[in-house]
Amino acid sequence: MSEIVVVGGGLAGGAAACGLALGGFAAGGRAVTLLERDRAPVHKICGEFLSVEAQASLAAIGLDVAALGGHRISRLRLVRGAGVVEVGLPFEGVGVTRRTLDAALLERAESLGVTVRRGVAVREVGFEGGLRVDLAGEAALRPAIVVLASGKHEVRGVRRRVGTVEDLIGFKMYFRLDAAQTAVLARHIELYLWQDGYGGLQLVEDGVANFTLLIERARYRAAGGTWAGLLAALRASCGVLDARLRGAVAVLDQPLTIFRVPYGFVHRPGGDDVPGLFRLGDQMAVIPSFTGDGMAIALHSAAVAVAAILAGEPALAHHVRVRRDVRGQIARASVLAGMARFGFGQAALFQAARLSPALLRLAAQWTRVPPSRGPAATRILRI
Ligand SMILES: Cc1cc2nc3c(=O)[nH]c(=O)nc-3n(C[C@H](O)[C@H](O)[C@H](O)COP(=O)(O)OP(=O)(O)OC[C@H]3O[C@@H](n4cnc5c(N)ncnc54)[C@H](O)[C@@H]3O)c2cc1C
Repeated sequence: MSEIVVVGGGLAGGAAACGLALGGFAAGGRAVTLLERDRAPVHKICGEFLSVEAQASLAAIGLDVAALGGHRISRLRLVRGAGVVEVGLPFEGVGVTRRTLDAALLERAESLGVTVRRGVAVREVGFEGGLRVDLAGEAALRPAIVVLASGKHEVRGVRRRVGTVEDLIGFKMYFRLDAAQTAVLARHIELYLWQDGYGGLQLVEDGVANFTLLIERARYRAAGGTWAGLLAALRASCGVLDARLRGAVAVLDQPLTIFRVPYGFVHRPGGDDVPGLFRLGDQMAVIPSFTGDGMAIALHSAAVAVAAILAGEPALAHHVRVRRDVRGQIARASVLAGMARFGFGQAALFQAARLSPALLRLAAQWTRVPPSRGPAATRILRI
């Protein structure tokens, strides 16, 4: 029997599996099995800006981000129309593809003794007479604990209770910029504010640029309802972006897309919490992209879950802790994201940043999971 089943091999699931193994759970015949539906590492929709907090969390489970070949980022350019404000970040981030990062995490988990099964999709999680994990084409598993880390994907039986979801579409495309523009972008993340949306451009491994954006569906339709039409409209409204992408070559055939992300969702611990079901990452909380630190929250929730599991605490205690730790950041990031999308808010944001660039640094700090509450190495290794 597998004692713990981790559903999903993204950041939260991979980190939790590593943490459990490091904490000694996999020793003594107690198994940790991680199920990931993708057969091989894939690109995922994500801005791929890894904050210093996220890097520290990864270091705590023995993953050396520097070895992954990402691009170090220490400056932010905020771009609105022809206006640009530039500021040094209060920390150094790293641009690294999720394909590389998630693969490294799963390799690390395997090396620590976790059974990683790729190409295995969980169809449903049930509770009758104990936890049950249904798989396609094979017998159900009956673990003592389920770590639910399926990210944006709902799993039947344990769907998130999300409220109203905004009608935003997310796109991600990799570009190889021309040499001069690659040099201008080096060590920067550029954030663009457009009517009804915003997005970011930064370098990742091998000098490739990640361009990820969120836009209202109505705006997308108005641009012809195609990626080419949208890109042309965004470039026409922003000279800086147009310059960056002149002569650029798209690396993917099509952009990756995502719809209706439940930004602002935080799992509410309560009566429907099942003792052995631990929610992690986006299944626990979803912070608005670009104004928040989704990967750090995913990793933080993993560390909190590991500590709770190793201490024999119920999932409810874990959910209460993570909610307490991330609620404020999510509320502040939601306000910023709302401002970043609409004319008046954008103008206010941009003017404030122009008058006092330090405000941008402050905003970046407000929306982080504080390192003091982060998954410190000691917390995992002490156990
Ligand atoms: C547009 C956008 C931009 C973003 N930009 C950033 C950014 O720049 N920086 C940042 O810190 N955060 C960013 N985020 C947030 C970040 O991507 C997420 O918070 C993070 O990926 C959450 O990690 P996770 O482990 O919960 O989910 P994921 O990383 O999505 O992993 C979930 C895994 O579960 C697997 N899975 C799903 N269902 C099943 C199933 N039924 N059975 C088995 N496996 C399953 C999936 O294949 C996947 O591998 C962004 C998000 C979006 C939408």
